[in-house]
Amino acid sequence: MREFGYRRAADVSGAVAQLGADPDARFLGGGTNLVDLMKTGVERPARLVDVTGLPLGRIEPTADGGLRIGATVTNSDLAAHPEVRRRYPALAQAVLAGASGQLRNMATVGGNLLQRTRCGYFADVTQPCNKRDPGSGCPAIEGEHHNHAILGASDRCVAVHPSDMGVALAAFDAVVSYETAEGTGELPLAEFYTPVGETPHLETALPSGALITGVTLPPAPVAELSRYRKVRERASYAFAIGSVAAALDVRGGTVREVRLAFGAVASRPWRARTAERALTGAPADAGSFAAAADAELAEASPLPQNGYKVTLMRNLAVAVLTELGEEAAR
Ligand SMILES: Cc1cc2nc3c(=O)[nH]c(=O)nc-3n(C[C@H](O)[C@H](O)[C@H](O)COP(=O)(O)OP(=O)(O)OC[C@H]3O[C@@H](n4cnc5c(N)ncnc54)[C@H](O)[C@@H]3O)c2cc1C
Ligand code: SF4
Repeated sequence: MREFGYRRAADVSGAVAQLGADPDARFLGGGTNLVDLMKTGVERPARLVDVTGLPLGRIEPTADGGLRIGATVTNSDLAAHPEVRRRYPALAQAVLAGASGQLRNMATVGGNLLQRTRCGYFADVTQPCNKRDPGSGCPAIEGEHHNHAILGASDRCVAVHPSDMGVALAAFDAVVSYETAEGTGELPLAEFYTPVGETPHLETALPSGALITGVTLPPAPVAELSRYRKVRERASYAFAIGSVAAALDVRGGTVREVRLAFGAVASRPWRARTAERALTGAPADAGSFAAAADAELAEASPLPQNGYKVTLMRNLAVAVLTELGEEAAR
């Protein structure tokens, strides 16, 4: 591991100024991803600006009935918060489905959104990788890709985003707030992650040097009946091979409102808007759920080793929506 400098930021403007003045510096949240990547040489910052002492560690109600989550709230505190559990249960479930208790105690909301892909070639600096070293190639396409993308990928990169939390945030229309030396800004989660296209090394629309200050969840009564379900290769402490965040409002047997997002299928949390449109106003039954999932997955283009994800995601979506539909009918 290379030597690096470390400073603990005392206020937001100071943190932003330190990073703005130093292109070789990075913000440090819990360090559960960044420090690992520094050990393997994937990340090589000269200095770290620790943001965990900033006053961004609270979860507060917003005036319109939503919730504002500070960027340095730990994953454990987010999952345990009573208003998160009551109003956005799929978010608490998603966070608890990730990593381990020790990691969740360290990991922050800002860091979770910006964690890097778990593609094995990305993590191995002896391999080419367009995301780590633009223009060097993507060995995953012809190589090992059983847990890679089936939606929204390109011929430059087929990696998936690993965050569980982000999938629930996508379903609930979260908005990310940030600050730069030029002022503050906001990005809806739908615009936060940029499409892979020709530039897999550019992952978000955040301006250079931006500090994430928090995430706002708009009020969403539908979210009170919501669920996150994750499929992985072992029962705990593993990244998803597919996941679903769903919320359902059913009246008189008809879907009044639905939220659906998929995880581990694309370079970003995948909001299943085609399925949502197909389901709104449809009977809340397994046939509608399956037709909606099929409509969403019609645009999937799996690779030789990951076609199983199309079937997996269809069955997962139908199972979770069916459970929510049964709960709504009680
Ligand atoms: C063994 C293991 C298993 C895991 N399993 C899962 C899992 O199943 N599901 C899952 O979702 N995650 C999983 N994780 C990932 C874990 O959730 C992330 O490592 C964690 O959320 C990152 O948060 P952090 O605060 O530690 O980020 P850091 O490692 O500190 O930072 C990550 C990135 O975010 C940047 N950053 C941090 N805070 C800010 C900020 N406020 N503004 C701007 N930039 C910022 C850093 O510069 C860095 O680029 C796992 C991790 C490990 C090590
Ligand atoms: S899938 Fe993306 S991250 Fe993985 S090797 Fe290809 S370019 Fe790199």
